[in-house]
Amino acid sequence: MGRIYEALQVEEDFIKAMERKEFRLYYQPKLDLVSGKIIGVEALVRWEHPEKGLLPPLEFIPFAENSGLIIPLGEWILRTACLQIKEWQESGYVHMLMSVNLSAPQLYQPEFADKVQQILTETKLTPKFLNFEITEGVMLDAFQAPKVIRELKGLGVQISLDDFGTGFNSFHYLQELPIDTIKIDQSFVQNCYTDLNDGTIVKSIIEMAHQLQMNIVAEGIYSADQLIFLQQNHCNIGQGYLFSKPLPPDELMKQIDNIEQI
Ligand code: C2E
Ligand code: CA
Ligand code: CA
Ligand code: CA
Repeated sequence: MGRIYEALQVEEDFIKAMERKEFRLYYQPKLDLVSGKIIGVEALVRWEHPEKGLLPPLEFIPFAENSGLIIPLGEWILRTACLQIKEWQESGYVHMLMSVNLSAPQLYQPEFADKVQQILTETKLTPKFLNFEITEGVMLDAFQAPKVIRELKGLGVQISLDDFGTGFNSFHYLQELPIDTIKIDQSFVQNCYTDLNDGTIVKSIIEMAHQLQMNIVAEGIYSADQLIFLQQNHCNIGQGYLFSKPLPPDELMKQIDNIEQI
């Protein structure tokens, strides 16, 4: 009995959870900050644990990454997200974009782009409606990252650089990789209208994104003051509790009119 036993136990529970379909995708809307319309959603995974309740990703994603189980889980996430967006498109939200987060082991598995292509074909989703969110940390493999990202771009999907500004190499990635969208990290958005330095950083990132002809998303918007600051500084897309928390698909659809009125 000891740590190895415990680790095996967790692994067994995790595999069981996949078989029992205990994982759920929640969706948080992204809004066009000019029109107030929903332009897409980000898929965020949760584990509906039979004893512990709804677990947030930070409680199991690190384990999934270290054990390699993120590969089957990630494939389920991608397929589920593609099927969901396809369903919403068919019910009238024809231009809605689906954003899916990727972990390093997923991105660097052999023939990842082929797997993505296969899921796109299977779900009949037009590639430009799929957007991968990749953090700077995941890009760290200077050797493999450019190759895989170019392969993914070749399929026609979009790439966002997530948590922008928190890594050591932010600008290098912009220079080196075919990035469509920059997501300003929540930590800068939080105090953008009260802290002069944070505000200046946010303004500069927005302006740079425009110059580079990239989309710009601010995440973690929870107050009207933040929203006004971002709108005044021409940030085009926003996401955060102010508009909506991540929600199960049916609840999001029920709320969609209220969210768009903000
Ligand atoms: P992230 O990709 O940076 O996602 C944004 C996180 O901020 C989400 O937390 C979201 O619920 C939260 N958030 C959104 N708006 C606000 C706000 O206004 N205020 C605050 N305080 N938080 C807000 P969540 O869902 O707990 O996810 C945490 C992280 O787990 C994600 O960070 C991502 O790195 C990872 N993750 C989530 N789903 C997946 C997935 O399907 N695959 C992988 N590989 N990672 C995932
Ligand atoms: Ca993300
Ligand atoms: Ca983020
Ligand atoms: Ca993050």
